Amino acid sequence: MSGPDLATLVPDHDRLERDLTELATYVDPDAPGWTREVFSDPYRAARDWVRRQMVDAGLETTVDAAGNVVGRLVGAGSGKPLVTGSHTDTVHGGGRFDGVVGVVGAIELVRRLRETGTELTHDLVVCDFLGEEANEFGLSCMGSRAIAGVLGAEHLDRRDGGGRRLGDAFERFGTDPEGALRLAWAPGSVHGYVELHVEQGPLLERQGVPIGVVTAIAGIERLLASFSGRADHAGTMPMGERRDALAAAAQAVLSVEREGCGAPVHGVATTGRIESGPGAFNVVPDHARVWAEMRSIDAEWLSGAKGRIAEQIASDAAERGVEVVLEWLNDQAPVPTDPSIQDVIGAAADDLGVPWSAVPSGAGHDAAHMAHLGPMGMIFVPSRDGRSHCPEEWTDLADLATGVHALGATLLRLDAWSPS
Ligand SMILES: [Zn+2]
Repeated sequence: MSGPDLATLVPDHDRLERDLTELATYVDPDAPGWTREVFSDPYRAARDWVRRQMVDAGLETTVDAAGNVVGRLVGAGSGKPLVTGSHTDTVHGGGRFDGVVGVVGAIELVRRLRETGTELTHDLVVCDFLGEEANEFGLSCMGSRAIAGVLGAEHLDRRDGGGRRLGDAFERFGTDPEGALRLAWAPGSVHGYVELHVEQGPLLERQGVPIGVVTAIAGIERLLASFSGRADHAGTMPMGERRDALAAAAQAVLSVEREGCGAPVHGVATTGRIESGPGAFNVVPDHARVWAEMRSIDAEWLSGAKGRIAEQIASDAAERGVEVVLEWLNDQAPVPTDPSIQDVIGAAADDLGVPWSAVPSGAGHDAAHMAHLGPMGMIFVPSRDGRSHCPEEWTDLADLATGVHALGATLLRLDAWSPS
C-alpha cells in the first residue's frame, strides 16, 4: 500500500463534525440525552437523512425489506462485496456516537474515495442496520439478524409491554416483516465485514491508544431467578425459622457479582433488577425475582460461571428453606473476530503510523451477526471516561477521524486481500 494514496483518504473533519451535529438533531424532544429509538418518528426522519447522505455521496441506495438502509459503491471488478456499517438508533437517554460513527464515518469515507478517484475492485456496501439496540421487544440487532438469516418468525411474534407484536411494529414503520424473513444474504457472500464503533469502555483511553482492534464480541448469559419462601410476621417469627425469599435473592446478587469479580481476562456479571413481595416493613418476603447477566469473550469461562452461579444460588436458597427456579434466557455465544481481519486492521493502522491495541468488546454489535456471512472485524475508537449509553458519551473528533482513516486503510488492504 503506497503512502500517498492513504494520505489522500484523510476524512474531512468539518464534514464529519457537520454530519454528527446534523444527525444529533433528530431526537425525541421529550426524552433525555440523545434519544432516537427504533420505530420512533425521529428515527424515521434520521434514516431519511442517512439515505440522502448516501445518495449524495454517490452510493446506489435502497431500503431493504427489514428496513436496513443499504448503499453500494460499485467496484471495478466482480466478486463478493466488502461491507461496512453500523446503526443510528439509540437507547433511551443515549449519546451521539454509539453506532452513528460507523455509519457517518463510512459515508465520509465513500466521499473521499470518490473525490480522490480511488477505485476499489470489490463493491463497497454501507449499511445502516435497523434497530441495533435492545428494545421493548427484547430483540437487538434486528436488521443485521435479517441480513444474516437469523431473524425468525418467532422473533416477529414477540410482544412489548403494551402487548404490541414486533411484526406489526415492523409493518407500521413501513418495512415488510415477511420479506425480512426471506432477506438473508447467502453465507460466505461477503468478502469482508469491518465495523467502526466507539469502544464504550475505558481501555483505549487508559492506554492512550487511538485505535482498538477488536478480538471478540462478548457472549451473554441471562438469568431470571425466582425465589419462593414463606410470608411470616416480621416481629414474631424467630430468625432461625424463617424462609426469607428476599434474603436468598440478595445472596444471589452477591454470588453473581463475586463471579464477575473473579473473572479472568474479560468477564462481567451484573444484577440489573430485583423484585420482591409482599413488600411491607413487617412481613417476611415470600417471593423474589432477580434478573442478572454475565458476559465474556471466553465461552469456557461463561459456561463454567453459569454452572457455578446456579449451584451457589441453589445451595444458599436451600439452606434458608427457599425454593428457587432458574431460567436462562437469550444466551448468545461469544463471537471471535476473524484473525486475518485483525491482522489487516493492525497492518492498516501501522500504514498510518497510528498506535493500536487489541481489545475485547463487552457490548454486542451488528458485526456479531454479520460474521455469519464472511470474515468479520471491528475497529474501536476511544470513549471518554469509558462512558456510553448516556448523554455524556463522547469521542474527540480527531479520534473519530483517525478511526475513519483506519477504516479506509483497512478496506483498501482487504480489497487486495484474498482469504487463505
Ligand atoms: Zn452500538
